[in-house]
Amino acid sequence: MINSKDWLTCLRFEDKDGRFHGSSVAPLFEAAPFFFNSYEEYAEAARAEASHYVYWRGTNPTVRIVESMLAELEGGEDCRCFASGMAAIHAALMCCLTTGDHAVLVGHVYETSVHLIQYLNKFQISYTQVEGTSVEQVERAIRNQTRAILLESPTSLTFELVDLKAVAEMARSSGIRTIVDNSWATPIFQKPLSYGVDIVVHSVSKYLGGHNDLVGGAVIASSDIMERIFYEEYLLLGAAMGPFEAWLLIRGLRTLPLRMNAHHEAGMKVAEYLSGHPSVAAVHHPGLISHPQYDLGRRQLSGYGGLFSFVLKESSYEAVCKVINRLKRFRIGVSWGAMESQVISPNIGTNEQQLKEQGIPLSLIRLAVGHEPPNWLIEDLEQALQN
Ligand SMILES: *Cc1c(COP(=O)(O)O)cnc(C)c1O
Repeated sequence: MINSKDWLTCLRFEDKDGRFHGSSVAPLFEAAPFFFNSYEEYAEAARAEASHYVYWRGTNPTVRIVESMLAELEGGEDCRCFASGMAAIHAALMCCLTTGDHAVLVGHVYETSVHLIQYLNKFQISYTQVEGTSVEQVERAIRNQTRAILLESPTSLTFELVDLKAVAEMARSSGIRTIVDNSWATPIFQKPLSYGVDIVVHSVSKYLGGHNDLVGGAVIASSDIMERIFYEEYLLLGAAMGPFEAWLLIRGLRTLPLRMNAHHEAGMKVAEYLSGHPSVAAVHHPGLISHPQYDLGRRQLSGYGGLFSFVLKESSYEAVCKVINRLKRFRIGVSWGAMESQVISPNIGTNEQQLKEQGIPLSLIRLAVGHEPPNWLIEDLEQALQN
């Protein structure tokens, strides 16, 4: 399930010419500016900042190490790491869009990404959000001014899939860029660039970091796109990842294949348990045969993350509170992708009308299955779901 090339990338950082004295662990360069021996040397670096160490808002050796690891894992030519997933998504969108352009958002993409595109409306950038389960739906939303399609597969609340290859082909033939947020699958289970997608973005705060101890983002694409992003969105907007976050991320990546395997196994067990429970109306997990796009998932993904959702039969905020408050093993909080299992619901008591409009069930509960023994989690759910 996990290919050996990915393992090699996760286990080794490049120590070109023994610069790091054979160190087993990547060095942490907590340095803002870099000094030069002559003015000519500095001038050469300043003329090509993308490939020289001048200042960490642009390049830093520790950050560069993790960028090359992520580029390799995603099968892209280059990567830049950002201060957050949102900064990465912002850079990717701004690289594709200008005043008057239109973007298509597919399905229930990450809510803050929707808010970001709404904010860009002040630059007359408009958008259409469509259900993404068929390519025709996406195609129908395209206008003359459409320049970017932003999607997640699966989405991280309702876990619908998008046929990445079909959407990428359709978009490319119309000169539209595709941006895929691959935070859920990680490159271990899905490599969107191999399906013809132009830009992959990540919140590395989730599985890639894997320990709830860092916030960061990444953009991976061709050298051409990445060079433009570097000199414009990266250097100008200034949301660079810091070296310590990069160092933590390198550490997280070393166990990524192991962790993803464990999330896959444990997530499947918990999802299967819930899908037979009398208090549960539905389980949204692309690995269940009952998932309407199960076959697409089998083709497109080589494994499943441990984040999925289920819907209670009793449909109210009170029912959501009751079940979540009874859970003892699952911690209540945003984000996901670390050691500890987490639980959350999009229903915060005052947004029921909004959820209805978005087609999100009022009693949807999202679980992030972590690394506790799955039977602990199942026992915990069993007691929480009792009437
Ligand atoms: C968390 C998340 C983001 C935003 O990432 P931050 O690192 O929190 O800025 C984007 N997309 C998805 C799918 C996420 O789960």
